[in-house]
Amino acid sequence: MKLTPSLICSIAISVVVSGSYSYADAVHDAIDQQAKAVEAKMIAWRRDIHQNPELGNREFRTSALVAEHLTKLGYEVREKVAHTGVVAVLKGGKPGPVVAFRADMDALPVTEEVDLPFASKVQTTWRGQQTGVMHACGHDAHTAILMAAAEVFANMRSELPGTVKLIFQPAEEGLPPGEEGGARLMIKEGALENPKPEAIFGLHVIAPGPAGMIFYRGGPTMAGSDTFRITVKGRGTHGARPWQGVDPIVIASQIVLGLQTIESRQVDVTSDPSVLTIGIFNAGNRSNIISDKAELEGTLRTFNLDMRSFIMQRVKETAEAIARSGGGEASVEWISDGYTPLINDVSLTNRMVPTLQRVVGADRAIEVKPLTPAEDFSFYAQEIPAMFYFVGITPPGTPVSLVAGNHSPRFQIDEAGLLPALRATVHLAIDYMTTAAK
Ligand SMILES: [Zn+2]
Ligand SMILES: [Zn+2]
Repeated sequence: MKLTPSLICSIAISVVVSGSYSYADAVHDAIDQQAKAVEAKMIAWRRDIHQNPELGNREFRTSALVAEHLTKLGYEVREKVAHTGVVAVLKGGKPGPVVAFRADMDALPVTEEVDLPFASKVQTTWRGQQTGVMHACGHDAHTAILMAAAEVFANMRSELPGTVKLIFQPAEEGLPPGEEGGARLMIKEGALENPKPEAIFGLHVIAPGPAGMIFYRGGPTMAGSDTFRITVKGRGTHGARPWQGVDPIVIASQIVLGLQTIESRQVDVTSDPSVLTIGIFNAGNRSNIISDKAELEGTLRTFNLDMRSFIMQRVKETAEAIARSGGGEASVEWISDGYTPLINDVSLTNRMVPTLQRVVGADRAIEVKPLTPAEDFSFYAQEIPAMFYFVGITPPGTPVSLVAGNHSPRFQIDEAGLLPALRATVHLAIDYMTTAAK
């Protein structure tokens, strides 16, 4: 049975007359039936995209599939946004707000180790090395879920009280040096303009979250990630006569410890967490030679934009001052591909949590702690109120020790988790539009 808007109305009228079942209940049931009807197609799209993964800025096949589907459904489609992105708009039959949804489409340079009939066999060259390509972060599912939601929105277009804007984004996982892309470039190329959405939603499938569960959080939700390099210049000399030179290794060692005192002594640990790690320390080539320079590289993870700026400033001041105190010089370079912290709009999240609870049940929509990975959805959240949430895709009951997490070559999706994600997407749109319209 296909549920048309007039059928929704007739169900609503007949049951409203008979008792407690409201028009809203009928709309919710109609969404669920529509979602169920498109589930098999969604899974087929997901498998097709999984078998044909493409790296960031190279999602040619995936974006063509998306654009063709959306065009057929009657969306106004803009292609080649930020290289391979697709932005599509569907104006509903009733007046209401513009709401955006974002799905990322790129895969990772990972060689798949999962034994599935639709496992990826794709090979490519990444930064000069031969590698497999795999949807090891589940962006194949994100794309398929939003394609399915697009179909449900189109089927209920005449009853839709507002406009949906669907943003299919390339290159969330970062790019080889020298390339620009992802959310930042989508925004630069107008993804949030004409029409400008009032709010934006996004989701991420997450292991080991059990299929059928949804996880959310208001405020700081995922870490900002920034990479830095510190070059310490000393003056090389014989290892037996250090007073004749300036030892960059001793200076760099003091800098490593000095940076940790920013974290332990200078930021309010009760406000938001932050992590600073030096992962690379390179200097010297012989035990009895003091070298000319030392190089450090590290990562900073933050959940608060002010704290991020403060720490970035203090890293520079601390490194430079310590180097000066030892008679050397330090320069700090922030490598510009960092992602800002992802901060969900608190009032939007509070307003939409009842929707997530209705979709999966109150005991299956769980509030979570902040997550330390980064996500470039944060750039949309800096522009307009945003809510990013997580969808379980691990078979319920699997021991956590047996679950391969996102980015693992053994990452797997229990496709039973996709229908709740599709339902959540459409219910969020309808609830947002109808509550905003009041
Ligand atoms: Zn990822
Ligand atoms: Zn991801």
